[in-house]
Amino acid sequence: MALFDRLRDLQKVDLVIFQLRQRMRQIPKETATLEAELKKQEERLAVLEKETKKEQVFQKETELELAVREEEIKKCQKHLMEVKTNKEYSAVLAEIERAKKAISDQEEKALLLMDKISGMKNAYKEEERKSAQEKNLLEAKRKALTGEEAETKSRLEEEEKKRPVLSGAVSKEILAIYERILPTKSNRKALAGVVNGSCSGCHFRIPTVTMDRVHKGEVVFCDGCSRILYLE
Ligand SMILES: [Zn+2]
Repeated sequence: MALFDRLRDLQKVDLVIFQLRQRMRQIPKETATLEAELKKQEERLAVLEKETKKEQVFQKETELELAVREEEIKKCQKHLMEVKTNKEYSAVLAEIERAKKAISDQEEKALLLMDKISGMKNAYKEEERKSAQEKNLLEAKRKALTGEEAETKSRLEEEEKKRPVLSGAVSKEILAIYERILPTKSNRKALAGVVNGSCSGCHFRIPTVTMDRVHKGEVVFCDGCSRILYLE
């Protein structure tokens, strides 16, 4: 096999290895993002639950307050039977009125709280439903990523096994040049074909002298991008 064919085979494998390694680095990041998303969902639910509980405590307190006021009224009514003067009588009546007013306020408050809590419970249920759906989706994605990671790892191992065979078929000097150029190119190509007299890597017009050397199969470099030139 000609030198340039061997180099191109090596370049193909190196590109695959590069992409697989990139993917291997990316997958744990994606998994971490998914896990953070799952955690956020759980936290959102926990906050809703806590807020609902807080309102339920308020409701309990309001109910207790109501009971206290009712007890007060009962006491006042008993007291009413025992009073001696008109003045005392009016004072107790006023006290009863105050307690009744307080009860009516508390009852209104209790009703509002009941509405609020029922709304919050519904919102929680809705959020719980959405969260469960989202969780399923995230879990499925995470599972897919785990599968992809295992597959990518085994593919990478396969490709890495091929590499020494391919690189061993190229002289050390050429391999060193190839390996020096490769990481500097964003498309991970150290070689460029000559198409219609121009470099396919950077479109630089290849001078006639260089073209003659390319035709002879010599190792020459593009003056534009420094890639190793070969005939397409
Ligand atoms: Zn070039």
